[in-house]
Amino acid sequence: MAWITDLIFPPTCAHCQAPLPSQNLFCPLCLEQLTPLDTEERCPYCFSETHRGKCALCCKRRVLIHRTLSIAEGIGPAYTLAKGIERGEREWIPAAASLMAYQWIQKQMPSCDLLVPLPCTLHQRLRYGKDLHNLLAQQIGNILSLPVHQALKRGVDWDHFFTEAEVLPRFEAFLPKTLADRSILLIALSYDDALFRRAAEALTSAYPIQISALTLMREFG
Ligand SMILES: [Zn+2]
Ligand SMILES: [Zn+2]
Repeated sequence: MAWITDLIFPPTCAHCQAPLPSQNLFCPLCLEQLTPLDTEERCPYCFSETHRGKCALCCKRRVLIHRTLSIAEGIGPAYTLAKGIERGEREWIPAAASLMAYQWIQKQMPSCDLLVPLPCTLHQRLRYGKDLHNLLAQQIGNILSLPVHQALKRGVDWDHFFTEAEVLPRFEAFLPKTLADRSILLIALSYDDALFRRAAEALTSAYPIQISALTLMREFG
C-alpha cells in the first residue's frame, strides 16, 4: 500500500522540499550539507571556534565539561531536523541519534559509562507528553550500548513559563550513587553553554569521573 501513500503524499526532502524517489528524510544535496563539523580549530571543552586548543573563555574558567561535540551548526538541514523533533516529529529522532552516535565514535571521543539527557523544559514535556531529550538519549544508548539515566531534574522557572523561555533553570542531580566514579555523557539537541554548565555543576555534586557533552547542533539560531 506504500505506493498509494506515495501518490497522495509524494515523499519530499524535509529541508528543501525537493521530491525524493523514496521515503528518505533529506535529498542528496541537503545530506551533503549535513557534513559533520571538524574538531580541529574547536575548543575541546566547549567546542566553540578557536585557532588552537582551549578558547579564551575556557582558559579563564573552571572545567566542568571535559569534552564537547556538536555535529553541525544551527543552520540548514541540521536546524530543520532539530526543529522538527522539537515540534514533535518523533520519527526523526533515530536519524538525529545515529548521526550523533556515529560521530562520537568516528571522532574518537572519550568512552563513557552512561548517558544523561539534559531535561527538556516543562513546557516541552507537557506539549509532547515525553521528554524529547530522553527519547534521543535512549536511541543513542541503543547504538552505543550504554545505559540512560534521567539523573537530572529541571526546576521550573515559573516567571518565564508562559513565555516558553526558561532563563538559566536550576538543575538537581539525583541517583547520586549511580553517577559516582562514572563517565557521563550529557545529551541534548542543541548546545547552550550556560545551560550545560549548570547541568554539569549539578552532576559534579554526585562525583562523576568526568562529564562530556554531545549535541546535534550548536545553539538554535
Ligand atoms: Zn533537500
Ligand atoms: Zn571553550
